Amino acid sequence: MTYSLVVHGGAGDWKGVRRSKGIRGVRRATLNGQEVLRRGGIAVDAVEASVVTMEDDPTFNAGYGSALNLVGRVEMDASIMNGRTLQAGAVALLTRVKNPITLARLVMEKTDHVLMAGNGAESLAKLFHLEHRNPVTPAAKKTWRSLRAQLERATIAHLPKTSQLVDDLPEIVNSGTVGAVAQDGDGNIAAGTSTGGLPLRLPGRIGDTPLIGSGTYATRSGGCSVTGIGEGAIRLVLAKTACDFMRKGSTAQKAAEQSVMLLQRQLGLRIGMVTIDVRGRLGSAHSTRDLCWAFSKTGMRRLHTSLR
Ligand code: ASP
Repeated sequence: MTYSLVVHGGAGDWKGVRRSKGIRGVRRATLNGQEVLRRGGIAVDAVEASVVTMEDDPTFNAGYGSALNLVGRVEMDASIMNGRTLQAGAVALLTRVKNPITLARLVMEKTDHVLMAGNGAESLAKLFHLEHRNPVTPAAKKTWRSLRAQLERATIAHLPKTSQLVDDLPEIVNSGTVGAVAQDGDGNIAAGTSTGGLPLRLPGRIGDTPLIGSGTYATRSGGCSVTGIGEGAIRLVLAKTACDFMRKGSTAQKAAEQSVMLLQRQLGLRIGMVTIDVRGRLGSAHSTRDLCWAFSKTGMRRLHTSLR
C-alpha cells in the first residue's frame, strides 16, 4: 500500500519545552494517520485521525488547549476536504465540541452544506452524539492573562491592525494550529486543518482555517493545509493558490515555496503550509521563524520530524 502523509502543528516561534512537546505531538499524529493508511484507509480517514490526535494534545492550539479570544473564551474552527470528490466540510466558532475536525467531516458527508458556525453547528454535533468537553487548559488561560496584560500595558487603547498587533505582541502568532494532508493507496488526496484561532482575536472573528480555499484545499492534483495569520491566507485564497501551482505542474515543495513567497511579497505577512502533490511528493514552507511538522511515506524506515 503506497501512501504519503504530512502533518503540521503550527507556524510561529517554537521555543523552550514547547519544542520537544511539539515534535512529540506531530510524531504521534503522523504515526496515527500512517497506521490508518497502512491498513488501507482512505486519505480523509488519515487526515481526520492525525488532526484528532493533535486536537486532543494540549500542546497545540486546536481542540483541547485552544487559544482564548479577547474576552477569554474559546471559539474553534476546522475544515476538511476530499480532493477526489471536491466535497468539503467546515465548522466555525465552536465552544465545546471535543473534535472540531470530526464535526467538519460530518458536515461534509452528512449534510448538503459546506460551512456551519456557532450554535447551529453545536446542535448538529449533539444530534450526531459527538463528544463535548471544556477546551480551556490552565496553560492557555495563563498565556491569555499574560497577553491581555501586555495589551493593556501597550499604548494602544484598541486592537490595532494585525501587523501592528504582531509587532507589539509577537507571541500572538505562536499559535500551534494543526493540519494534515494525505494521499492514500488509490492516489486520492485529502487535507484538513483545525485551530483555536489567533489569541486575543475579537469574539466572532473567523480565520482562514474553516474557509475552503484559504486554510484548506485539496484536488486530484494536490492538497494543502495553511497556518499563520489567517487574514493574509484569506485575502490570497492561499491553500487554493498552492493547489493551483501544483495543478500547473509545480512540485509540492515548489508550490509551497511559491505561495509563502507570494503572501510575503504582496501583503508582507508571514505564513506556513504543508502540501502533497499528485505524485505523493511532500512540501513544507514557512516565512515564520519555525514550523512544527512531520511526514511519512511508504518505504521510509523512520518518519521525519522538523521545526524548520
Ligand atoms: N490560521 C489560524 C487563524 O488565523 C491561526 C494559525 O494558523 O496559527 O485562525
